[in-house]
Amino acid sequence: MLLSHLREQVLEANLELVRRGVVVFTFGNVSGISREDGLVAIKPSGVPYEELTAEQIVVTDLDGRLIDTNLRPSSDLPTHLELYKAFPNIGGVAHTHSEFGTAWAQAKRPIPCLGTTHADYFHGPVPVTPDMSADEIAGAYEKATGEVIVRTFRDLDPDAIPAVLVAGHAPFCWGRDAADAVHNAVILEYIARMATHTMAVNADAKPLARALHDKHFYRKHGPGAYYGQPGSG
Ligand SMILES: [Zn+2]
Repeated sequence: MLLSHLREQVLEANLELVRRGVVVFTFGNVSGISREDGLVAIKPSGVPYEELTAEQIVVTDLDGRLIDTNLRPSSDLPTHLELYKAFPNIGGVAHTHSEFGTAWAQAKRPIPCLGTTHADYFHGPVPVTPDMSADEIAGAYEKATGEVIVRTFRDLDPDAIPAVLVAGHAPFCWGRDAADAVHNAVILEYIARMATHTMAVNADAKPLARALHDKHFYRKHGPGAYYGQPGSG
């Protein structure tokens, strides 16, 4: 089987989405990329998670041409491909309609950094894309979704903020590999839920002070990181 290791990783990452309770039915999809081969592995379209096997994981090139498969890829594939092309350090993408993340996407509100849990993972608010135009929606919609995400990150670092809320739709998250993208998707849902509760308790709650935000982010990321065990990522 071509890219069997990557396919197994992508299968496992898709199943992890289900185990963590961030998808219902066949909503959601995870992909991973082999930068060496220029090939992407992604969940097939519409196959129930409980029936999913590594052989069914679809492999395509960065132009979406199918390699060694007779199943159709997730319809969101063109969005994933735009992210891989624009964000050179990412190795996995996860898309869910998780409840609280989607609520913020529908409200078209960026998730402010209200606490250190958010700061540990996202170096700033989780942004919301602008609305897509009627032409973008009528045309190559999934590709245009990727393009609007990339535009949203024109002045942001996708390695420091590994998630976005697509306005009126739902979150897309990414990471070093497929498993890391799913990890970030689960954390995004958690911080979205906590932000909702925080704003319910105090609608005037203020974002975390910059110094505390930076302290938490940089103790886990970058050259000065000291959180966790060496090499554990
Ligand atoms: Zn979606």
